[in-house]
Amino acid sequence: MNKRIYLSSPTMHGEEQRYIQEAFDTNWVAPLGKNVNEFEKELAAYVGVSHAAALSAGTAALHLAMKLAGVGEGDVVFCSDLTFAATVNPVSYEKGVQVFVDSEEESWNMDPKALEKAFEKYPNPKAVVLVNLYGTPAKLDEIREICSAHQVPLIEDAAESLGAVYHGKQTGSFGKYGVFSFNGNKIITTSGGGMLVSEDGEAVEKARFWATQSRDPARHYQHSEIGYNYRMSNIVAGIGRGQLKSLDLHIQKKKAIYETYRQAFASIPEIRMNPYLPGSTPNFWLSCITIDPASRVTPLDVMEALERENIESRPIWKPMHMQPVFAKNDFIQVTGGAPVGERVFERGLCLPSDVKNTEEDMDRIIGIVKGLFV
Ligand SMILES: *Cc1c(COP(=O)(O)O)cnc(C)c1O
Repeated sequence: MNKRIYLSSPTMHGEEQRYIQEAFDTNWVAPLGKNVNEFEKELAAYVGVSHAAALSAGTAALHLAMKLAGVGEGDVVFCSDLTFAATVNPVSYEKGVQVFVDSEEESWNMDPKALEKAFEKYPNPKAVVLVNLYGTPAKLDEIREICSAHQVPLIEDAAESLGAVYHGKQTGSFGKYGVFSFNGNKIITTSGGGMLVSEDGEAVEKARFWATQSRDPARHYQHSEIGYNYRMSNIVAGIGRGQLKSLDLHIQKKKAIYETYRQAFASIPEIRMNPYLPGSTPNFWLSCITIDPASRVTPLDVMEALERENIESRPIWKPMHMQPVFAKNDFIQVTGGAPVGERVFERGLCLPSDVKNTEEDMDRIIGIVKGLFV
């Protein structure tokens, strides 16, 4: 059997061990400690925001962002439609109602025109949550302007886009609240973890309070609010500090992977790479393609051909408005016809984008894909 090629697996560099060792040496294995504080500071500095809270998962950060935005029973939240379910599930944790907003063609992310239309139909949503899909920035300035014109907080799900830049600014820093994930296959990983960032220091402090069981400042264990166990451990934060040092290297490698695919597939008119906006620099977390619907080759053909050669690939996220669990939720698109997200889902797939992919690995993958089109 050929060597397994992964979609996107953890890539450690040794630096991580040093911080873990330090935590062991000082017995700060748990709960909080220096690594947690430093990881928060280092990530905030990288992203260019003032405050950050290290949490157990990106999903936990999204949940606390929903709470900070005041989402409660029956409240409408406008959500990216083409995304991973984790972006939108926390709305339900607070008994809110997701209204899904279609994507645009240029970045596959939330369409500002569809968002405007959503505001016409639902003038008083509690929040907007948007994703930068696969590490590609959305039309962040436009969407931020629409949100501030309506005085609705924007929650930016930058779980996949750490290090991506839009108009000179880091993704995750556009919303009132930004969210990052360090899950196993993200561009940097701590095995599992997340971060909530904001310019609002009080909000981040409140998130830390909720994340540590909402303990009132009293000697006795006293609680005036429901709390959660959402904090990151000091060991996990140590891995994060080490990984952060390699983030730029990972972005460089991911970009090279994207460019290699782009050049290789330039000769096949039926294949298009996932697009990105002028003025944006993605982190190229996953390289994706779409295949022309007129082609006799389908994305499933490509996935199966790769799987036969022990190569991992993945379908595009299935849009939220197509999910059985959200069958009753509203969906807003600019015009009738097939939604943009649905077309990307049906015609697209994610190609192996592992930082450790070698030139030979890339040749193998490209050879198999191209072979289907001759
Ligand atoms: C991974 C991911 C999340 C969730 O992060 P976890 O750390 O796994 O909880 C949220 N949104 C998107 C778009 C993701 O890809």
